[in-house]
Amino acid sequence: MSHAWGYAANNGPDKWCDNFPIANGPRQSPIDIVPGAASFDAELKPLNLKYDPSTCLDILNNGHSFQVTFVDDSDSSTLTDGPITGTYRLKQFHFHWGASDDKGSEHTVDGTKYPAELHLVHWNTKYPSFGEAASQPDGLAVVGVFLQKVLVTDLFLNFSYFLHCFQGKQTTFANFDPATLLPGSLDYWTYLGSLTTPPLLESVTWIVCKEPISVSSAQMAKFRSLLFSAEGETECCMVDNYRPPQPLKGRPVRASFK
Ligand SMILES: [Zn+2]
Repeated sequence: MSHAWGYAANNGPDKWCDNFPIANGPRQSPIDIVPGAASFDAELKPLNLKYDPSTCLDILNNGHSFQVTFVDDSDSSTLTDGPITGTYRLKQFHFHWGASDDKGSEHTVDGTKYPAELHLVHWNTKYPSFGEAASQPDGLAVVGVFLQKVLVTDLFLNFSYFLHCFQGKQTTFANFDPATLLPGSLDYWTYLGSLTTPPLLESVTWIVCKEPISVSSAQMAKFRSLLFSAEGETECCMVDNYRPPQPLKGRPVRASFK
């Protein structure tokens, strides 16, 4: 069975515009962030992230990434301030990564690719649900965090039992604190963009952290051992599940730091 969209030559990012014409729209993501061209904006507030580990619900291999989902029926895990107004609730986080360490992130910095990128997805509570927010220009706010390779780290040990999970597999994943995935500094770049997977809706205020978090070789190997394939299909490792940078088309990129 082949997926309607994916990351292979026959269904990858270059082909998404066939079914999702917005792929060539005015505010697509990711982008290459050029720090020298980003303007410091003193009006940008620090990010205010309040996460409650008890809202962590489950972990799922959705065939494109693995995703950790949160209960979002109250303001228990939220993003406020930063470049946004109002309250955005955490819905899920997931990762993008490469087959090797020289690629994998979606955003790049002066053309530099990181081996992986974390996305923490929040929705604007001025709308009734994630689904309705996802198509509004101010509906979503995604915090992006780069992963850089270091020799040894304890990070992600919680994910290790998720190895070799087939597509469609879902399991309870309780009491994980996503704040443990944030870098020490929350300095960020921000711009208006889109989902980086179909349907590529132009609804995301992007907040990309300047400081990466660390991941070890062993942990990158674990990401790469996940499977795109479903049970009974030919095994196919989940790698290179990233979209490359899209044209900026005149959009301003602001920095919260000098
Ligand atoms: Zn993503």
